[in-house]
Amino acid sequence: MRRVVIQLAVLVASLLGCARSAPAGESRLVRVFDACTPMGTYMAVTVYAPDEPSGRQAIAAAFARVEEVEAATSHYRETSEISKLNRGAGGPALPVGPHVWAVLRRSAEVSAETDGAFDVTVGPLVALWKKTWKKGKAPADADLAAARALVDFRSVALTQEGRRVQLPKPGMQFDLGAIAKGYAVDQAVAALRERGIQAALVDAGGDMYAMGAPPERKGWFIGIRDPSQPDEKDRILSRALCIRDQAVATSGDYEQFGVIEGRRYSHILDPRTGRPVLGVASVTVVAPDATSADAYATAMSVLGPEASVAFAEKRPGIEVMAICERGGQFVATRSKGFERLEVTPTAGR
Ligand code: ADP
Ligand code: MG
Repeated sequence: MRRVVIQLAVLVASLLGCARSAPAGESRLVRVFDACTPMGTYMAVTVYAPDEPSGRQAIAAAFARVEEVEAATSHYRETSEISKLNRGAGGPALPVGPHVWAVLRRSAEVSAETDGAFDVTVGPLVALWKKTWKKGKAPADADLAAARALVDFRSVALTQEGRRVQLPKPGMQFDLGAIAKGYAVDQAVAALRERGIQAALVDAGGDMYAMGAPPERKGWFIGIRDPSQPDEKDRILSRALCIRDQAVATSGDYEQFGVIEGRRYSHILDPRTGRPVLGVASVTVVAPDATSADAYATAMSVLGPEASVAFAEKRPGIEVMAICERGGQFVATRSKGFERLEVTPTAGR
């Protein structure tokens, strides 16, 4: 329910659209909205369609595609391809379907680009920290070292022929939690496009894609949650983003975290130290697709603000804003292009 409230707040803002552009003949389109709760999150889809039934059908197709992605990629489902790969760690390579293949290929690229800050083999570390959070303690050094030894994207074998994947050591575990939601958003968008939709907003709990723009608007207006007010779930920053045909994802420590001796620990781990990221309140990334935005938001939480901005400045189409806590103050660091996408919500209306 809590997530529902947050997302509705963001959505209400986004439905207002960005400042008007020249009037278009598209205004006969009707707005259709629906939501569901896949992948442990709340997914809201808004489309502009020629009529209500075709809009509903397109959204139903998008939701069906997301279910397909979740069924293949979730390590919480015993029957998923990812669970099978995890159970088969240390054994021979296993064939996978197109969704798992695409996510693992993109993950390997992001891992290489970020020098291992992003690593979908973090499963053993995630499990270890979850277990110790429940007890309110940090893990023992020996346990941490043992889990770290199992985290290594470089050792994963991806064989194009027959689309086969192998986790070489027993105990290795994939966890696609940092990228699968973004991929599901891209798949939902593809399903909408296949049904002729040209303007839509797909939002999966902080991983979003804005297709086209609402009629007579320049783009979709996206509010970003204020990480300095973790208890005020629907408080958004005064400047919002106006985007079109772009994805935006936010990773933060305000929604999921552990507490050890009164201190908050992020659910994002630095695979190189095996420890949770500290001091990064939220990272918002704009990218051409939601898979990349989701993966980069997690990776950049590990890289830290300066390295993240340097990373984004080198890559056209990638923008970032990192909000860090320094001595009780929240400081935002932005790439230049991020600032250009920001708008003040009341302007132009
Ligand atoms: P959210 O699920 O809140 O959108 P993220 O997209 O940042 O957040 O994903 C965080 C999840 O990804 C963690 O819960 C964990 O399962 C996994 N993870 C944690 N650290 C890393 C990392 N460095 N690289 C890849 N996956 C990670
Ligand atoms: Mg992510």
